[in-house]
Amino acid sequence: MPDLLEQGETMFALSNGYLGMRGCFEEGGPIGQNGTFINGFYESWPIVYPEEAYGLATTGQTIVNATDTKIIKLYVDDEPFWLPHANVRSFDRRLNMRSGTLDRDVVWETPAGKKVSIRSRRLVSFEHRHLAAMWYEVTLLNAAAPVVLSSEMIANEPTPRRDNRDPRQAKVFTEKVLNHRLSYSRDQRIVLCHATAKSGMILSCSIDHVLETSSPATWNTHHTQDAGQVVATINAEPGQPITLVKYMAYHTSQTAPPEEMCARVERTLDRAVDDGFPALLTGQERFVGDFWERSDLRVTTNPSKAKATTTAVQQAIRFNLFHILQAAARAENTGVPAKGLTGGAYEGHYFWDTEIYVLPFLTYTAPRIAKNLLRFRHGMLDMARQRARQLNQRGAMYPWRTINGEEASAYYAAGTAQYHINADIMYALRKYVQVTGDEEFLFDEGAEMLVETARLWISLGFYNLRKGGKFCILCVTGPDEYNTVVDNNVYTNLMARENLRFAAETVDKLRERRPDLFTALVHKTHLEDPEIADWKRAAELMYVPYDQRLKITPQDDQFLEQEPWDFKHTPPEKYPLLLYFHPLTIYRYQVLKQADLVLAMLLLGHEFTPDLKRRNFEFYDPITTGDSSLSPCIQSIMAAEVGDVEKALEYARVATLMDLGDVAGNVKDGCHIAAMGGVWMIFAYGFAGLRDYSGELSFRPALPDVFDCLRFKLTFQGRNLDIDVSQDETRYTLTTGSGLTIRHEEQEVCLSSSAPSVVLPNSRPSERADITHAVG
Ligand code: BGC
Repeated sequence: MPDLLEQGETMFALSNGYLGMRGCFEEGGPIGQNGTFINGFYESWPIVYPEEAYGLATTGQTIVNATDTKIIKLYVDDEPFWLPHANVRSFDRRLNMRSGTLDRDVVWETPAGKKVSIRSRRLVSFEHRHLAAMWYEVTLLNAAAPVVLSSEMIANEPTPRRDNRDPRQAKVFTEKVLNHRLSYSRDQRIVLCHATAKSGMILSCSIDHVLETSSPATWNTHHTQDAGQVVATINAEPGQPITLVKYMAYHTSQTAPPEEMCARVERTLDRAVDDGFPALLTGQERFVGDFWERSDLRVTTNPSKAKATTTAVQQAIRFNLFHILQAAARAENTGVPAKGLTGGAYEGHYFWDTEIYVLPFLTYTAPRIAKNLLRFRHGMLDMARQRARQLNQRGAMYPWRTINGEEASAYYAAGTAQYHINADIMYALRKYVQVTGDEEFLFDEGAEMLVETARLWISLGFYNLRKGGKFCILCVTGPDEYNTVVDNNVYTNLMARENLRFAAETVDKLRERRPDLFTALVHKTHLEDPEIADWKRAAELMYVPYDQRLKITPQDDQFLEQEPWDFKHTPPEKYPLLLYFHPLTIYRYQVLKQADLVLAMLLLGHEFTPDLKRRNFEFYDPITTGDSSLSPCIQSIMAAEVGDVEKALEYARVATLMDLGDVAGNVKDGCHIAAMGGVWMIFAYGFAGLRDYSGELSFRPALPDVFDCLRFKLTFQGRNLDIDVSQDETRYTLTTGSGLTIRHEEQEVCLSSSAPSVVLPNSRPSERADITHAVG
C-alpha cells in the first residue's frame, strides 16, 4: 500500500457540507478507508452498558458509509489501469481550491507500450447540494486500442476492521447497514434505493453518464440490489480524446417512500445532464470564488526570518479555510460533524466544535451559513427539553454529541457532564447577533433557546452558604476532558453567567420592543416574571474562585489540590494520554487535555485583568498536553495576547499543520474541522488581536516577525471591513457601508464613507502598558 494513502484520502476529500466523498482513486483502489458520507444520514444502535445507570444515553448514532459512486475503471487492450502496478510516466493530483475540484493528470504506459493520457476532475457541487460529477478523459497517445470504461456504484461495501482501542474512531457495523428497497436501470442510468434498518432513514442514489467520442462506442448497463455498472467500450484512435462525464445524485429522507426518493434523484440527474459539466463547473467556480472574495486570509512572510515561503504558508492557511467551507457550506438542517464529511471518526457527530471554533469564522465571513447552523440548534430544542427532564432538570439540555438531537455519548463523564455546551451555543448566538445585527433571528428563535438554557443553569446550580452564598455549579465537566465531573469549573460558571445575562437582557428587550413576540415567547415557554430576576441574581452571584496563594484562577474547586503530573517521565510515545492511561489516573493529576480556563480568557477576556491573564496562562500552558486538536489554536491566541509572540507562532504552526502535517497522527480518520476554524482565529484574534466582547470591534495587532503582512476581511453589521496588518502599522478600510467605529489598541477610530481608510501605528508588545505592567 502506498505511503500516506489514507491521509491523502482525507486531505483530498471533497464535500459541500451535505455530501462528502473521500479522495479515493477513481479506479476504486488502492483503498485505505473508503467513504461517502451524507451529513445526518446515520444508523442507530443500542448502547449496551454492562452496568446500567439511570439516564445514560441509550442509542448510539453512527454516520453511514453511503453508496459509493466514485468508481470509474479503465481498461486499454483489456489491461486494467491499476495504480499499484501501472507503469506511470507522470502523475499529478491536486485539490483545486480555486475551482472546488479534485483534479488528476496521469500518463500511463501499458505493458504493450501504449501511452495513455488520463485526465479527470471531480466535484461535489456547492450549487446543487445533492449532486456530484466526474469528468474523465482518456486519450491514447501513440496507438489505437479498444478502451473500456466501467463506471460503477456499490452499496454496503465491507469496512475493514480497525484498531478499536482508539475511542475517537467510529463504530464498525458487522451487519449490513443498507437494506435494499428499490433498484432499476435505464440506458446509462442506474437508481438504487436503500433504507437503514434501525434509524429508518432512506437513501436514494443514482448515476448517469454522457460519453463524447469520435470513435464507435457500445454500452452495457447492469445492476443488482447493491451494485451497478455502466460499461462503455470504444474502439479508440490515437489522439482522439474520449470523455466520460458521470453524474451522481443522492437524496435522503426520514419519511418519504422509496418511489418518491428515486424520483428525486432522477430529477436531480435530469437537470445535471441537461446543464452539462461545463455549466456545473462554472457554478462551482462562482461559488468558491465568492467564498474567497469574502473569506480569504492572506499573509506575506519575511524571507529573511521565516522558514517557509509565502506560498507554502498561504496554501496551508487556505487548505484549512477551504475545508471549513466544504464542511459547512450546504449543511442545511444539520450541524457540522467534528470531521466534516472527510472521515467517519467521531461517528459524524456534532459537538461544541461548531459553535466555539467554526462559527466565529463563518459569522464574520458567511453569516448565512452561521445562521443555518444556529437554526439547526433551535430545531433540536424540544429534544433538549426532554433530555433536561430526564436529567431531573428544568429547561433544555443540549446533547454533548449527537446527530439526531438525542445524547449519543456513552461516557457521561466526558460527555453529558459537559453542560457548558448549552452556554457555548448561546455564546455563538450572541456573537452572531452582534456581528450581523440580526435581531429578528434573536427574537424569533434565539429567545426561546435562551429561556430554556437559562432555566437549566438555575435548576443545576444553587446558592452555597459555604461559599458565601455564591451561585455554584457542581458535578460538571469543562472543556478539558482530563478533569471530569468537577465542582465549579470556572469556564462553565463564566459561560453560564454570560448565558443568564444574555437571556435576561434579550427577554427585557423583547418585552419592551416587541410585545407581540414577547407574548408568543411566554406562550411557548410558560415564562414567568420572577424567573428573569432569578437569572439576574444567579449571574450576579456566580461563584468565580481565585487562589490567593498562587494568584491565579483555579480551573475548578479540586484542581489545585491535585498532584502535578510527572511530565518529565512521560515519554512522547505516551501521548495522547487518553490512549495509555486509565481515566482515573489522568483525573487525579494536574494535567489538561486542552485549553479550558485559557479558553475562557479568550471568550470572556473582559472578565480578567491583563495581569491575571498572564499569570493564568503561565500556570496552565505548561500543563496543557494539547492532546485535543482544539487546544493549540487557543494557546496560540492567548500567548499572543500575553505578549509571548514566539510561543504564539509555535502553536500557530502546530494548528495550521494539524492536518496537512498530520500533527496528531490521525488525519487518516478525517480532518480536524474545529482546529481549522482555530487557524482563522489565530490570525484574526491572535495576530490581528481582534476582540468583540462588547459588540464593538477592537484590534491589538501582534504580528510575529516572520510575517510582513496579514490581510483579511470582516463583515460587520452590513459593512465590510478590510484589515491589513504589517509590522509597523495597520490599515483599516471600510469597503461597504457608511460608518463604523472600531478601536485600534487604545484609540477609537471612526471610519466613514468620506474617510473610509485609516492607517495607525502598531505599538510593540513590549511597549504596551498592560503587558509591561504584567511582566513587571
Ligand atoms: C475534544 C472535544 C471535542 C471532540 C470532537 C475531543 O477530543 O476533547 O473537546 O469536542 O474531540 O472534536
